Amino acid sequence: MGSIEGILMDDTAMDFSIFWKEAMNQLRGEVSEQEWLMWFNNLDYLRSENETIVVAVPSSFYQDQIKQRYLSLILDKLNELYGGALSLQFEIHKRTAPQKESTKPGGTGQQTSNPIKTTGRPKTHPNLRSDYVFENFVIGENSTFAANAAIAISRNPGTAYNPCLIYGGVGLGKTHLIQSIGNATFAQFSEKRIMYVTAETFTNEFIQAIKDKKNHVFKNKYRNVDVLLIDDIHFLQGKSETQEELFHTFNALYDYNKQMVFTCDRPVSELKHLTDRLRSRFERGLNVDLQPPNYETRLAILKKKVEKGSSHIADDVLELVARNVTTNVRDLEAALTKLLAYAELVNKDLTIEIAKQQLLDTFTNPKQSNISIDDIQRVVADYFNLSHIDLRGRRRTRAIAFPRQIAMYIAREMTEYSTTEVGRDFGGRDHTTVMHACQRIESRMKSDPTMEPTIQNLMRMIREYGTRS
Ligand code: ADP
Ligand code: MG
Repeated sequence: MGSIEGILMDDTAMDFSIFWKEAMNQLRGEVSEQEWLMWFNNLDYLRSENETIVVAVPSSFYQDQIKQRYLSLILDKLNELYGGALSLQFEIHKRTAPQKESTKPGGTGQQTSNPIKTTGRPKTHPNLRSDYVFENFVIGENSTFAANAAIAISRNPGTAYNPCLIYGGVGLGKTHLIQSIGNATFAQFSEKRIMYVTAETFTNEFIQAIKDKKNHVFKNKYRNVDVLLIDDIHFLQGKSETQEELFHTFNALYDYNKQMVFTCDRPVSELKHLTDRLRSRFERGLNVDLQPPNYETRLAILKKKVEKGSSHIADDVLELVARNVTTNVRDLEAALTKLLAYAELVNKDLTIEIAKQQLLDTFTNPKQSNISIDDIQRVVADYFNLSHIDLRGRRRTRAIAFPRQIAMYIAREMTEYSTTEVGRDFGGRDHTTVMHACQRIESRMKSDPTMEPTIQNLMRMIREYGTRS
């Protein structure tokens, strides 16, 4: 690439615009047309500073989205072209809507607000997401205990609650909380070594270390930290050698009062294929749960997210979303992102009608025709470590009867089958048995707060199972 070298040589104050242009050119062929128009087309090269390219984005919403979705893609491309380590910085240059606001005389029609610059030591840990901080976590009645425990841990790592295990269904904020612990600890104790991994990465690194005969390197890495954060430990089920390794890591750290925090998608007691001694380690210390947020909390979360961005969304639209998206925070965010994108791109005031129309898919009835009773039985049986045959069969021990009632309830919730049809698929039972099962589960949901998340979690697994097969 003679042309690039030429530019580099006679230009001492490096100008990386050519890399930027070429990276955009190439990425255009690698992402979908829609992604290109929506995201990349709204990035404008501004200038180069040392080895940093400064790019304009139209709003902080764009900035966050680009960072989350495409930052590593863009950086990889730039660095492949440049052959070194470039970094990116964003500046928000609001675009004034042409039809609404008149351009100031003599102005550029653009307005700069808060260029995001970092100087000195960053406030968040370099290996953690900078938006996963306590300030961005809305505490509701569903998360008070877990969030307060997490805050307490970050103030006094290794002393207060050690280990701590946070459990709850998908999208309820486990990763956000565990990373917030890392970020807050990092901000308060500059000398502490903080390590965050997912259980999956931990497992893969361990396997690789064995292959490369570098077990000692692996051991040193995880036993020389002050705070060890392991996300999604349910991944370790059935992985006995990794469990063994974690058990020893645990003991080594525990003996020296090093803080450990784990997350899991269910209570530890419901994990399968886990050695007793590791289970007892997880259960030691503090176990706290995250529940799905109620309406008020959902609305507060939405408001907080809108506040952070640059677009305005009317309260009645937010209320509509909070009322209809009840599953978890991730789904709530996805719905909001869709509305924000619409508001940004189409540049319109969002009315309730438009919002409804935009979120039609999200709001549609959860009853899905592609889910069979057989799928439900398989997933529920597996979850409770029973055989599919047991669940369909006639045995009535409590260990089977309760999961069977759950499966019947879910079958009624997720499919269009009648109680008679459901009964037939559960060993030819009468429709009144199915009705009774549903009533039992419903009343149990009122008295036992762990019931609903368990069922939500099962439904999600069934949906995933249904789309896979
Ligand atoms: P999990 O790890 O439990 O599947 P995440 O931590 O990834 O869930 O959360 C999903 C999304 O919802 C993230 O973007 C997170 O920032 C957001 N989120 C979850 N709980 C809250 C909360 N209480 N307040 C604000 N945002 C939240
Ligand atoms: Mg997570």
